[in-house]
Amino acid sequence: MSRNSYDNGPLIVFWETTKACELNCIHCRASAIESRSPEELTTDEAKNLFIQLGEFSRPPVLIMTGGNPLIRDDIYDLIKSATSAGLPVAISPAVSQKLNYDSLIKMKNVGVKFMSISLDGLSSTHEKIRRINGVYKETIEAIRYGIKSGITVQVNTAVMKINYLELPMIFKLIYDLGVKIWEVFFLIQTGRGSELLDLTPEEYESVCNFLYDASQYNIQIRTVECPFIRRVLNERIEGKNYSSYIYRRLNEELVKGMGKPSSSSTLSQRGTLDGDGIIFIDHKGTIYPGGFLPVPIGNIRNDKLVKVYRESPLLKSIRNRAFNGNCGSCKYKWECGGSRARAFSYFGDPLGSDPACILNA
Ligand code: SF4
Repeated sequence: MSRNSYDNGPLIVFWETTKACELNCIHCRASAIESRSPEELTTDEAKNLFIQLGEFSRPPVLIMTGGNPLIRDDIYDLIKSATSAGLPVAISPAVSQKLNYDSLIKMKNVGVKFMSISLDGLSSTHEKIRRINGVYKETIEAIRYGIKSGITVQVNTAVMKINYLELPMIFKLIYDLGVKIWEVFFLIQTGRGSELLDLTPEEYESVCNFLYDASQYNIQIRTVECPFIRRVLNERIEGKNYSSYIYRRLNEELVKGMGKPSSSSTLSQRGTLDGDGIIFIDHKGTIYPGGFLPVPIGNIRNDKLVKVYRESPLLKSIRNRAFNGNCGSCKYKWECGGSRARAFSYFGDPLGSDPACILNA
């Protein structure tokens, strides 16, 4: 018997609108390409996907991701169609010439509620990761314009060896800009996410404890592929003190910039996992448990998404926490469950243990 509430339908559906993107970021999940693929879902196929999503008893949030979704010339028509199907729509555009105040207003007018913009470091670090000079200034402008347009702006930051010590400064920057949601990605070695960029379990533990501290300043903090932050949250609530050199550095910088924390933690004690509240559809319509877990479980061109989500043996095992190794016997498996994508990336087993968790180090 599952103890989760996402057996009947996902909370969030990611749709990779296209693989094409103007940028060439070093950690890109999609390993984006320059031009659109002829295999992408057509306008009509995408609209059929929205109808299928509307068949879940609770309409999930549709996140239009890429590549750069704004490269599709039917994107505004698609947003309008998804909104008409009752889906709350979010978009993850790349910072490019196509993202400007006019396009933001256009997106808002056809129904976009949320937008995420990636910011992976302060000036030179961000540009090193994005591999484009001047893109830092454009990113800050895009965040400002997004907020001005009335769309809720979320900033996404991928944590890597080359930027994790900048996290307190990134946090202060987006706080001062007026951003309300910060989503922090923990790398998975797929796409261009290289092992050279990945942190050790001890470093991840320090970052999780830092994020717990940062979540006490009234910004919603979410993580991707880091469910063990919910273990850290439980431990901190229970009064466990964590200490390491890196954590102390991050915490000192946070307090130096922000002062003492002002609210209780905005971290959530329960959340999603790939296949448990989350589903990912790639540009060809292939269904995966998550964007970083390349185990196909169907294709919307031939399969019914509702049936695949509810009946896939892999998704049922994930939702029932039928894991192998430490994650299977861990007392936090219901709150956490470990990253299924990282277990697959390291062990070839989507039900294996998450090697980034300090309990598995
Ligand atoms: S061992 Fe697995 S389930 Fe337990 S806290 Fe770590 S990642 Fe989560």
